[in-house]
Amino acid sequence: MTGPTELAERFGTPSYVYDLDRVAAARDDLFAALPDEVELFYAAKANPHPDLLRELRSGGARGCRAEISSVGELDAVLEAGFAGERILYTGPGKTGAELTEALTRGVRLFSTESPGDLRRVGETALRLGLTADCLIRVNNADGAAATSIRMTGVPSQFGFDSETLPGLAAELRDVPGTSIAGLHFFPLSNAKDEASLIAEFRHTIAAAADLQHTLGVPFRFLDIGGGFAAPYAVRGERPVFGELRAALADALDEHFPGWREGAPRVACESGRYLVADSGTLLTTVVNVKDSRDHRYVVLDAGINTFGGMSGLGRIMPVSVEPHQSAGAVGTPASLAGPLCTPGDLLGRNVVLPDVAPGELLTVPNAGAYGPTASLLMFLGRPAPAEIVVRGDELVSVSRIEHTRTYEHGQAL
Ligand SMILES: *Cc1c(COP(=O)(O)O)cnc(C)c1O
Repeated sequence: MTGPTELAERFGTPSYVYDLDRVAAARDDLFAALPDEVELFYAAKANPHPDLLRELRSGGARGCRAEISSVGELDAVLEAGFAGERILYTGPGKTGAELTEALTRGVRLFSTESPGDLRRVGETALRLGLTADCLIRVNNADGAAATSIRMTGVPSQFGFDSETLPGLAAELRDVPGTSIAGLHFFPLSNAKDEASLIAEFRHTIAAAADLQHTLGVPFRFLDIGGGFAAPYAVRGERPVFGELRAALADALDEHFPGWREGAPRVACESGRYLVADSGTLLTTVVNVKDSRDHRYVVLDAGINTFGGMSGLGRIMPVSVEPHQSAGAVGTPASLAGPLCTPGDLLGRNVVLPDVAPGELLTVPNAGAYGPTASLLMFLGRPAPAEIVVRGDELVSVSRIEHTRTYEHGQAL
């Protein structure tokens, strides 16, 4: 039995429940929304739980590749069975030590963010007698869509400013230990609708074609990014992208006529779309408190448990669903966590029925940016249990442990 009440009784709260059937459905839906030839990277940072990684990898030809940005994520995806050649290593602060680890363990494709980053990848590869395939990540001077989280067109630690590439082309083509494989774009997250997503992809593909000309290397690989939206901690369904497949094929036909034959291979990326709706956060009301004219519902889950976004100062419109209270309307309340900081709020002015201590609440669509995006260690509470189910079947129950390791005269 895998209902929230039973799982909460058996494993306690706060806890997350992830349903692998829903992960598989999201993976299949997203692949179906893309042309057959387009590959898909799963950004492990959205949720690196081993069972979810395995589910996303499986699916045969329509299984995801992995996008990672640390040795911890490298461990996780290798453990989940991703082969080295299926991995893309990204990030603005790749050190020589982590690059050595990645190259030694079979990763060959790297996204590079600056001339210095590219040179470091090259030096590391050279020392190992290898050549690294490098994507030039592009911070485009302009974009097409109005989105929630825009990442290009402004100064950034991410990507080469597109306007600098003409002057850098000769230097970039010639970095020992590297081979320019193509470009990487990630202009936006969480596009507001399919039309803006398509507009952004069209813009990206046209810009990529121009840059291929500028850089003077035929691209073997083109990662055009993502932006696939998903409801996050509020009720709702994953969007359906009915027009995307044809629109992408059309833009690629126009700008990269060889793409269907793999010249270049084309990939998209996603985190939240693939895992957000698989997850539910279970939390128990610890206390209800009225202060002046405001109500606080104090939960056992705070930004230590579900803090990905509120930890960054963005309080989300979290919706909670009580499991026992009847009655639709209550008093608008702040949802506070148990931590000793006024910043421990999961929501403000959340309207829920009058709830009582001991009551179980659930937060829907909480499968992305959960425990590992939270302030897990702040105030020393245990990490939430993570319960994995497949429909009615219980698959695994685990908890991240943090322990202090002492150095005894050696580097850790
Ligand atoms: C975070 C990230 C993603 C995943 O973003 P979502 O909005 O969760 O899909 C994909 N690519 C890159 C480069 C990222 O940094």
